Amino acid sequence: MPTSTAAAPSICCYCGVGCGVLVEPLKNGDVAVVGNPAYPVNKGALCSKGLNLQYTVNDRSERLLYPQMRYSKNHPLQRVSWDEALQRTAAVFKTFIEQYGPNSVAFYASGQCLTEEYYVINKLIKGFIGSNNIDTNSRLCMSSAVVGYKMALGEDSVPVCFDDIELADCFLVTGANPAWCHPILWRRVEAHKAAHPETKIIVIDPRATDTCALADVHLQLIPGTDVVLNQALGRALIERGDIDLAFIEQHAEGYEAYREVVFERTLAESAQLCGVPEADIRLAASYIGSAQAFLSMWTMGLNQSAVGVDKNLSLLNLHLITGQIGRPGAGPLSLTGQPNAMGGREVGGLSNLLPAHRNLANPAHRAEVQQFWGSGPLAATPGYTATEMFEALEDGRLKAIWIICTNPLTSLPNVRQAEAALAKAKYVVVQEVSTKPETLAYADVVLPAAAWAEKEGTMTNSERRISYLPRVVSAPGEALPDAEIICRFARAMGFRGFDFPNMEAIYLEHIRLTAGTSLDSTGLNYSILRARGSVQWPYRTSQAEPDTARLFTDQQFYTPSHRAVIHPVTAAFRSEAPDEDFPFILTTGRIRDQWHTMTKTGRVSKLTKHIPQAFMELHPQDAAALNVAESDLVVVQSRRGEVRIAARLSAGIRPGVVFLPMHWGKVLGSDLNRANNVTSGALDPLSKEPDFKYCAVQVVKY
Ligand code: SF4
Repeated sequence: MPTSTAAAPSICCYCGVGCGVLVEPLKNGDVAVVGNPAYPVNKGALCSKGLNLQYTVNDRSERLLYPQMRYSKNHPLQRVSWDEALQRTAAVFKTFIEQYGPNSVAFYASGQCLTEEYYVINKLIKGFIGSNNIDTNSRLCMSSAVVGYKMALGEDSVPVCFDDIELADCFLVTGANPAWCHPILWRRVEAHKAAHPETKIIVIDPRATDTCALADVHLQLIPGTDVVLNQALGRALIERGDIDLAFIEQHAEGYEAYREVVFERTLAESAQLCGVPEADIRLAASYIGSAQAFLSMWTMGLNQSAVGVDKNLSLLNLHLITGQIGRPGAGPLSLTGQPNAMGGREVGGLSNLLPAHRNLANPAHRAEVQQFWGSGPLAATPGYTATEMFEALEDGRLKAIWIICTNPLTSLPNVRQAEAALAKAKYVVVQEVSTKPETLAYADVVLPAAAWAEKEGTMTNSERRISYLPRVVSAPGEALPDAEIICRFARAMGFRGFDFPNMEAIYLEHIRLTAGTSLDSTGLNYSILRARGSVQWPYRTSQAEPDTARLFTDQQFYTPSHRAVIHPVTAAFRSEAPDEDFPFILTTGRIRDQWHTMTKTGRVSKLTKHIPQAFMELHPQDAAALNVAESDLVVVQSRRGEVRIAARLSAGIRPGVVFLPMHWGKVLGSDLNRANNVTSGALDPLSKEPDFKYCAVQVVKY
């Protein structure tokens, strides 16, 4: 039922652009959704996914409606009350914690969770259960960027804002296809280029994507050579004299070591390693070097890598040697794939983080949070990360996992191993909106959750913009907001500190923990967010001026020396190299009209029309050598598994490289469309982000 009849401002629940929408409740319980013309990010515009948002609420045919539980692995799930489900789960968790310690249980959540939800899950596991075993699917997405920001700038802080797009005169888009994956942001770039044709756009990508249509130069590199290429750009900038020595001397450290490393290889050698013309590297460097305001954008091509942190640092270095940071139109802009990956980072919702950018390794920070929560001591050692959780389930270190709002049996790398792990788990809780996720087959308890527009809370988009999302309609059946489920469970465990009267009380507690930190948002509450529509953090109590569009305008960074750090990364290779048996490089990615594992967008016929079926893209030269024609079935094999899928020929992909979309899971019981059957479990050693963009495969005609 509608909770009010007026159209309410809210935010699109898909990508990290975070477009504003107006959600109108209809008399029949459905909603209508249009773009919000007053919202600064999109000014009313929506992409194909946002234009079909209403179906995620209106089509309730695949919703979980009531709690279910089974008393042993041999029994089927049966309907139970909320009390029964939560009391039994609390009893099971208590038993495991007593017998095997707090690290025997874990929560695996999502970048789609609202900030309030992240906050209570994090508080529960870290403060009261006494383990850091909380990770989210943001680990698969942004953790390399988080580590890169921390190492270079001192904290996980995006320095720029979307309005910098209209102020930049040179863009470097690397490892990203925003024309498809962040479309509304990209339309702003397109409009800016149309109004200012002199604006230069450099795209680095092994595939010629739609984003390349706007490029002045496309550096179609060999996958995995990003660090080499970024360092070559650095060398070319130094050679041209296009660096900002005054900035380097006053506000950065590490330049001399960096210079030494980038001069170890000539531009010709780098060009050969990357498979791009040397002249194009020089041209791209000339664009960056001549820019008044240089803005970079990136996503998974840099992050999802066994050298993801190095790739991030090598990009950040280009800003630091040119002083292109902390001023209008200039700086690095990491694009998040999920709507609230940033909010999760703010509350410390990963296994190695603490709230408000505090450090887990710092005893004073742990004590501060413990005192604030009135909890037990916080564990000093990081918990299991996303993929580590499933390894720990498989070998028995982890007994119970609680999966919230994510679909790991489609999204994890080397996913058949994750399936085997869930089959061995002693206890699996699945807290979910949809009947679709494959995890439900392994659940001992199923908890139905309220979906977007059925619950209230906040989210932060890629530019630190916090927005309020109202509850517009009631959730179906007995579904509850995720935060309420967690608080009820915490109380069933006997923990104090989870008696929040409403969602705003959770938000205000989170906000109080930000006091005095770099993301101090103590000036905020729901009333201000409703009145202003959105606010960019930090937003302090005393803040009279507009919110903080840009960080580091005083060139004071969050490092102990207040200088940014230029890291002389070397171009290590940690991926699975192609060989005679597996000669192709596989890379994965998104398609335009689908989002993540398709539990929402896959139900909308208007969206499935664009690309109805999974496919494998390969170069016509490779296709000819394999005797494969367009639409032929091919088998893509790696050391971990295979997919069987239709071939698509494209001259836009490098020979020797093949591409699979990441969205498809099991279709009609078959997992042969699932890209993650073949992807590698290799991780970046610092960020623990998986190497989704690179593994060795064989392709044969079926
Ligand atoms: Fe939603 Fe992203 Fe599209 Fe905006 S660009 S409408 S946030 S999916």
